[in-house]
Amino acid sequence: MSMLNFDDRDGSIWLNGELIPWRDAKVHVLSHGMHYASSVFEGERIYKGRVFKLEEHTKRLFASAEMLDMGIPFSQDQINDATYKTINVNGLAEGYVRPVVWRGSEVMGVSGQGNKINVAIAVWEWPSYFSPQAKMKGLRLQISSWKRPSPETAPVFSKCAGLYMICTLSKHEAERGGYDDALLLDWRGQVAEATGAHIFFVIDGIIHTPVPDCFLLGITRQTVIELAQARGYEVIERAIMPEEMERADECFLTGTAVEVTPVAEIGPYRFTPGAVCKNLIEDFDATVGKAALSECSAA
Ligand code: PMP
Repeated sequence: MSMLNFDDRDGSIWLNGELIPWRDAKVHVLSHGMHYASSVFEGERIYKGRVFKLEEHTKRLFASAEMLDMGIPFSQDQINDATYKTINVNGLAEGYVRPVVWRGSEVMGVSGQGNKINVAIAVWEWPSYFSPQAKMKGLRLQISSWKRPSPETAPVFSKCAGLYMICTLSKHEAERGGYDDALLLDWRGQVAEATGAHIFFVIDGIIHTPVPDCFLLGITRQTVIELAQARGYEVIERAIMPEEMERADECFLTGTAVEVTPVAEIGPYRFTPGAVCKNLIEDFDATVGKAALSECSAA
């Protein structure tokens, strides 16, 4: 994997309808998106040249923009086509896709109504490295001091830049403590999610996961719920209090980046990644059509 800075690479980025050289895809310092967080994005994965659930991600991008009062000046089909144009021109088979939408530099002030809505799509190489065996060790999570806000405090269902402020702070806190990631509770004190992934627990053979009533509707989360049900597992979406983690045997995260990754530790609670984690990793890998480890150039 490349260690080059993200602004200094070869390749092309799609910006407002055209493919341009990677290094030319710049924004001005006086951009509404940067000063007032009027920015939404997506995170998608390319497996063997195909984007997993592209239509769902594009749909969520448009919904996220709408929640921030931004109308995207392209159709969903145009964005889907542009995504494949960008992937193909950059010659990627295993990678990540980052569409981003933001208000530009026409007007500076809280009101963003006079601003142009910009759209960019960038792709980069990102093989999914970890073998199922390596994943089974499990991540170590700290419980964050930050809480996911209530739906009347922030546009919680939007994948908007502003909501990542507490994720970055939580992740820094966790990394300083030697942890892999952080678990955020919500404003009520219920278990919510990790900094970029959803969470599931296995209690007495039944899978439990928080109701998505104050965080992003996860595309991987939905896929994994369906895979679990197809295997015959019962999946219950409900309010989960942190103390209940004492009773959980297994725990795992789901997300575009982490895919299905077991958790071994959250604050004072311990889990033993087992059969449920192993089965769902296998089912997920088969569903996305993941390249075998030996096929990944960088693995
Ligand atoms: N929560 C947060 C805060 C995220 O950023 C992500 C990644 N998009 C997820 C959960 C997982 O969602 P998905 O499965 O759609 O990638």
